[in-house]
Amino acid sequence: QYVLAIETSCDETAVAIIKNERELVANVVASQIESHKRFGGVVPEIASRHHIEQITLTLEEALTESDIELDRIDAIAVTEGPGLVGALLVGVNAAKALAFAKQKPLVGVHHIAGHIYANRLEEEFEFPLLSLVVSGGHTELILMKEHGSFEVIGETRDDAAGEAYDKVARTLKLPYPGGPHIDKLAEEGEVNIEFPRAWLEDGSYDFSFSGLKSAVINKLHNAKQKGEIVNSEDVAASFQESVVDVLSTKAYHAAKEYEVKQIIVAGGVAANQGLRSALHQKFDEEDIDLLIPPLHLCTDNAAMIAAAGAVAFNQGHRSGYDLNANPALSLERYGRRRQ
Ligand code: ATP
Ligand code: FE
Ligand code: MG
Repeated sequence: QYVLAIETSCDETAVAIIKNERELVANVVASQIESHKRFGGVVPEIASRHHIEQITLTLEEALTESDIELDRIDAIAVTEGPGLVGALLVGVNAAKALAFAKQKPLVGVHHIAGHIYANRLEEEFEFPLLSLVVSGGHTELILMKEHGSFEVIGETRDDAAGEAYDKVARTLKLPYPGGPHIDKLAEEGEVNIEFPRAWLEDGSYDFSFSGLKSAVINKLHNAKQKGEIVNSEDVAASFQESVVDVLSTKAYHAAKEYEVKQIIVAGGVAANQGLRSALHQKFDEEDIDLLIPPLHLCTDNAAMIAAAGAVAFNQGHRSGYDLNANPALSLERYGRRRQ
């Protein structure tokens, strides 16, 4: 069984094909990062235009890479939300056109469900599992008791982890997206600045990163005014230590409380070396299996949408030709719709 998937929620035009739910056959990602760099972030109008230019080429490239005819595809999956509405619409309309022209079933997929299911291309899921979602727009702890069921047990009250990385990077005058640059700097720096950690109320699995972000910005600003020199490597290392400490500690406590078999990391920040090693330190000694996707499946791609879409398809979920882009689609509601 082959599932073809399209992902255009943000600044990557991506098409992938997988076989039998877990086997990657083709994975093409056309990134627009270069076009957005000079603006320091994603410009929605530019993103939509690029998607329109790239979608057909990306689709053809995926089919060529897989050596599979469109007729042999069993279902078309597509990211329906959340994301930028104009960007999502390009993917949704392309998927609908394909599904209609080839008379194939259509399956709408939640982008974050996709980030989570990226892990299943590497290793089979064992429930209950806990997913730590850390991306450009989301920071959440999600409990899954079975396929397609998502319970948000904690989420950020302000900035997402990736967003905090990108904003701090901007203050350090690093290129967009800043996460990987801070990660690299942090490796060369020392943790010698005391930055806040937002633990919030006792037992809460929520997150907050805006206080930390402001503390870093203030520190740099004050140093500049006083003419002091601060070492960017040390700022990066100290900032990263704060983020990673809170993420890994909360994930650890939640994994224990919910007695999960697996802890799964998802989203772009899963590429972070500091986070990866902190999680290994916490979970390697435990009877909990730690899954972290390989780097090319951490940031946006369509293989993850195919992985989530194939499971939804095999559970009987279908979308109609009235499928629409939903920029604020909730993960819990998306899961309930499938039950
Ligand atoms: P969402 O998935 O929430 O809709 P998104 O799709 O924009 O948001 P992703 O593509 O999953 O987000 O991840 C991009 C984010 O990951 C950016 O904020 C980027 O800085 C961050 N990121 C990527 N690599 C690293 C890294 N090595 N360390 C820290 N952050 C990273
Ligand atoms: Fe994403
Ligand atoms: Mg992205």
